[in-house]
Amino acid sequence: MDSVRTLIVGAGVTGLATAAALSDRGDDDYLILEADREIGGWCKTVKKDGFVWDYSGHFFHFKHPEIERWLVDRMPGQKIRVVKKKSFIAYKGRFIDFPFQKNIHQLPQDEFIDCLHDVYFARSSDVKADEKRAALPATNFKEMLSARFGRSICEKFLFPYNEKLYACDLATLDVDAMGRFFPYADLTDIVRNMKAPDNASYNATFTYPEGGAIEYVRAIASAVRPGAVAFEEALVAVDLERKVARTTSASRAGGSREIRFDRLVSSVPFNRFVALCGVGSDDEPSTWAWNKVLVHNFGFDGKGQRDVHWAYYPARETAFYRVGWYDNIFDADRMSLYVEIGFPRDATIDVAAMRERVLRDLEREGVVTGQRLVAEHSVVLDPAYVHITQRSLAEHRRVTAALRERGVWSIGRYGGWTYCAIEDNIVEARALVASWN
Ligand SMILES: Cc1cc2nc3c(=O)[nH]c(=O)nc-3n(C[C@H](O)[C@H](O)[C@H](O)COP(=O)(O)OP(=O)(O)OC[C@H]3O[C@@H](n4cnc5c(N)ncnc54)[C@H](O)[C@@H]3O)c2cc1C
Repeated sequence: MDSVRTLIVGAGVTGLATAAALSDRGDDDYLILEADREIGGWCKTVKKDGFVWDYSGHFFHFKHPEIERWLVDRMPGQKIRVVKKKSFIAYKGRFIDFPFQKNIHQLPQDEFIDCLHDVYFARSSDVKADEKRAALPATNFKEMLSARFGRSICEKFLFPYNEKLYACDLATLDVDAMGRFFPYADLTDIVRNMKAPDNASYNATFTYPEGGAIEYVRAIASAVRPGAVAFEEALVAVDLERKVARTTSASRAGGSREIRFDRLVSSVPFNRFVALCGVGSDDEPSTWAWNKVLVHNFGFDGKGQRDVHWAYYPARETAFYRVGWYDNIFDADRMSLYVEIGFPRDATIDVAAMRERVLRDLEREGVVTGQRLVAEHSVVLDPAYVHITQRSLAEHRRVTAALRERGVWSIGRYGGWTYCAIEDNIVEARALVASWN
């Protein structure tokens, strides 16, 4: 039987960052199992006919300069743009600035009055953003939105947009389901913004490498022991008592094997991982909810709209919830789009039918204005956004504590069943490795 000190599952950002952190402290006794043929997980990049597309729109906002420096130092020759973001909401045929709740004064007068009236009389509109957790009476995400922003802002944007994205009843989500990614604004912020625009949010600028998001992943991989990734080899079972993992491999002679480990770090979606460990519970389907996202990447023969990086589409009759313009990052002369559509986890997705609808909607929304489609790619991200609920939080805490006792950790966006960005994955992986003596 093979044996390894640390068995890592997944060669996405999380798995690779864990391996890099181990190598950094002189420990190369690890193996990374990766079911796919390539590194990157959901942070892969596709190149086609001169277009560079990520699996879905990935833009980067680093809060830790030392992490950004560490990555950039491993990307010699790669052009990385720092871009002041231009993001909008497509509302009834016009663009208004993002976030919606701070820019209601850009709506037609009657709608502006409705929004201002409702937000003024909303139960918690005067709660300061940093006091929101303690002060909010709400018990779920939908109630929180109503309590803070009132009916009109919710009905015009916050409900339809988030329902399209999460593809679920927002009342099932935790109050804090979006964590720091939700742009809070109190009544003072909203009124002040009418005269002195300050739409800065957690991502006022972003960085983007010319070669796409995968360049950051490659930077992490460059710090990993060569040959450490076993590609096309999937974890299929974990015996927690014996500390033995079973795998199957499409490419390795022998097909399957057993690997003994001291520690195991998994970035597999948590619901699937607990099933592989045999510690799943009967109420799993109601504990672990998520949505899928279908991404269409489209390349056209001519330029489209300028001065926009991405836009949110709350209209229920429009299939997509977000569109991004890659060509406006590097000032390319051909429109290069990503288009995102949310689906419930059980949906059967007819990609071809959705493609036709999306192309029609892009024309109706004025994104495509006669340019010819010359290249395309699509992918379904499953899971894309996990649904954070009181139940998922409690169950994740309970099961991970039990797994830790056995030398097993489940981390990352899906292993941690959370909403986060790649920098968070790197921080978490490093902190985990640093916690081992
Ligand atoms: C729509 C969308 C937009 C996003 N935008 C941004 C953004 O703008 N900026 C940003 O920083 N982040 C963004 N993110 C988040 C970012 O993609 C994730 O934080 C990151 O990719 C998570 O990496 P991970 O390694 O934790 O998981 P994953 O990328 O899911 O990697 C897990 C890996 O494990 C492998 N695996 C799974 N099961 C098995 C198994 N049984 N055996 C072996 N291997 C297995 C998979 O093949 C995969 O390679 C976005 C995510 C989504 C969905």
